[in-house]
Amino acid sequence: MVVKRNVCLTGPSSLKLAEETLRNAGCQLVLGKSADDFREFRYQRKELIELIGDSDIVYPAGRDVMSAEILDSCPSLQAVVKSSIGIETVDLDAATDLGIICCNSPTPENYMGVAEATLGLMVALFKRLKLNEAYMRNAGWREPQNRGTLMLGKTVGIIGVGRIGQNVAKRLGAWGMKVLGYDPYVKQETVATLGVKMVSLEELLQQSDLVTLHVVLTRETRGMLGMREFKMMKPTAFIVNTSRGPAIKEADLVQALNEKIIAGAALDVFDEEPMPMENPLRRVDPHRLILTPHIIGTNPGSLEAGQRLAAASILTILEGKVPDTVVNPLAIPRWKERFWS
Ligand code: NAD
Repeated sequence: MVVKRNVCLTGPSSLKLAEETLRNAGCQLVLGKSADDFREFRYQRKELIELIGDSDIVYPAGRDVMSAEILDSCPSLQAVVKSSIGIETVDLDAATDLGIICCNSPTPENYMGVAEATLGLMVALFKRLKLNEAYMRNAGWREPQNRGTLMLGKTVGIIGVGRIGQNVAKRLGAWGMKVLGYDPYVKQETVATLGVKMVSLEELLQQSDLVTLHVVLTRETRGMLGMREFKMMKPTAFIVNTSRGPAIKEADLVQALNEKIIAGAALDVFDEEPMPMENPLRRVDPHRLILTPHIIGTNPGSLEAGQRLAAASILTILEGKVPDTVVNPLAIPRWKERFWS
């Protein structure tokens, strides 16, 4: 039986399914007006504190940032639940100190969608699809030097071998590609059956024909690839990033592409989203750079699946239980002590 408590949804316009589920379960909802697509309204810090008020749980939409100050200013707040996988907009260290549990919503609709899309981007880069498409449209037929690369036997380096990285690896193995992995938190045993050989970041960069990023965004992974790393890569190598934009130093990537330090890239995520019109990435040779607007992994039903899981996590928490989706388990003892003892 769910105790009647307040749940704050900062963006109900795009969270209808979660809203209905929680209301039907007897929750009292505080509804905000943020937009999930980052385009419209976004709350300022003080407005968010006022909106959350004495809510027990907040379900932030889009880029509503849950800073230490906000978490600390809402004494009834016991959990932050997001419907996405990425949860870098929440200060997890502050939440853990305060005993506030934080949950994300990793659904197969979301992470398998990203894994599949990553494969698509890899094929497009190796096979020079953009160049050949443009050549045919503009010059009529083919240019023999525009041949693609045989992927069989080539090496892909996966940085961040979690849910998405592992699903990418599984598929690449079936294509006869060699797969290297770099992830300080994943053991060789975990990924051995997927045919991933764990190596150092330097080895991965030096040996890979394509490097794909699947890290969570943390202090460690922010800016982890820049000019120093691009210079370690083969000049024929590609980069794919479907994880989070700030994991790559964007200005360095622009330079590396313009100066042909690497051969090409495909990006679904950016430092600033929506990507401003003046971003220099837009002026890089389009045959060597594929840009998609943080949508490549979504599919009909993927957003709803995230909302369903987020609502389920909220209802579990309101029963005083810990859902499987907690990303800061160290917060649990203090959470129990503060809110459930
Ligand atoms: P996950 O938590 O399962 O995997 C992330 C991996 O990164 C973990 O294995 C972790 O150990 C590893 N990692 C952490 N720090 C690292 C470091 N310093 N170096 C190397 N590896 C490190 O997450 P996931 O579900 O696989 O998602 C991966 C990323 O994809 C997340 O950033 C997520 O936000 C993003 N994502 C993007 C989209 C999109 O629409 N483009 C959709 C879903 C997820």
